[in-house]
Amino acid sequence: MSITVVGSVAFDAVKTPFGERERMLGGAATYFGLAASFFDQVHVVGRVGADFGDEDLAVVAMRGTDVSNIERVPDGKTFFWAGEYGWDLNSRETLDTQLNVFEDFHPTLSAASRDCDVLFLANIQPELQLGVLEQCREPKFVAMDSMNLWIDIARDALIEVIRRVDCVVLNDAELRQLTERPSIVGAARAVIEMGPTAVVAKLGEYGSALITEDDFFALPAFPLETVVDPTGAGDTFAGGFVGYIARQLDGEPTEPLLRQAMAYGTALASHTVEEFGTQRLERLTAGEVDARVENLRRITQFEPLPAPLEAS
Ligand code: AMP
Repeated sequence: MSITVVGSVAFDAVKTPFGERERMLGGAATYFGLAASFFDQVHVVGRVGADFGDEDLAVVAMRGTDVSNIERVPDGKTFFWAGEYGWDLNSRETLDTQLNVFEDFHPTLSAASRDCDVLFLANIQPELQLGVLEQCREPKFVAMDSMNLWIDIARDALIEVIRRVDCVVLNDAELRQLTERPSIVGAARAVIEMGPTAVVAKLGEYGSALITEDDFFALPAFPLETVVDPTGAGDTFAGGFVGYIARQLDGEPTEPLLRQAMAYGTALASHTVEEFGTQRLERLTAGEVDARVENLRRITQFEPLPAPLEAS
């Protein structure tokens, strides 16, 4: 099934305890596409400036991704984000966000982008997410991401998007901020009451949790000794999660399908953070992704011994 994604295509400046990059390819849709392209045909809807090189576009277009719906504005500047990570790499401070060409972007989707089976509204202004959602014909599954900036400055539009999607993927802090509920499960319930059937809570180095009306499932992050740059981990996770769903979907997504999709998101994200930017994703092979999924299966097996406390 084909996947359409709208979201930032960007240049990032990133500082982590392991080094610094002044300008590297980034953006939510970029990371998402690089991950989802392992599973199915991806169409990226976005906009870049004159500073965006052919070599940057070639990375976004890897593994057959359609970039014909990325508009290049001749006198414009590409979206720019700068962030710095703390010593434990779980905390991140945004130093700069420049929307640039995204500021007044009203995309017109190509026929192929509109005909998608699965739609992912990656992180960007909620109004823009809505514009894309409205143009898609009959997507069978729609998921979305967002961030604190949009919860702060575009809350009403964001809630309108949430009401219209099947699945919301947010990190723990964003879920709390959005719902003003202190517990993640409580916050996820509040989101489900708005309309979606599933919520994925991204928990950084602690993994992720899937909350639906009648189920809860949690997966640890893949155990890594060294994380170099967490940028894009969330978007890569979403690309693996949504990509797997697009490849396997037949009717409504079932719990086992969603769980398996979480494992693929987790495995893909674990590769992203081992190097700066998109570097690792560019060289990654399907076999390396499968190997980590298999490893996750091995380390998460839990079978309680047949000796309940009550029996002793
Ligand atoms: P994450 O997966 O959360 O680490 O996402 C990192 C990516 O999000 C970076 O490559 C940024 O370019 C992009 N980004 C940061 N802030 C925003 C924003 N306000 N809107 C859209 N994309 C953003």
